[in-house]
Amino acid sequence: MVVAYNLLVGRLYGGNVRLRYENKIIKVDENLCDICGVCVSVCPVDCIDMPERALIVHNDTCIQCNKCIDICPVRALRYDEKI
Ligand code: SF4
Ligand code: SF4
Repeated sequence: MVVAYNLLVGRLYGGNVRLRYENKIIKVDENLCDICGVCVSVCPVDCIDMPERALIVHNDTCIQCNKCIDICPVRALRYDEKI
């Protein structure tokens, strides 16, 4: 089931097919993030919200494409263990 999901995601979003980290989530370091909004603009599934002076990643719909991590100018995003 997980493999089928990942194949589908790879096809839909044109990225390389890779396995998702089932036990990891994208986490924001609030001490580093300056709410620039760049990560919001690159997320292909719109799972990052930026309400007033905050950044929220909806990990339930994140496809772990890494685009937000790669583009963040201050390296405020990283994978963390899902608790
Ligand atoms: S790109 Fe980095 S600094 Fe900018 S809003 Fe996203 S996490 Fe924060
Ligand atoms: S890893 Fe990809 S899908 Fe997940 S929040 Fe970042 S840009 Fe969005």
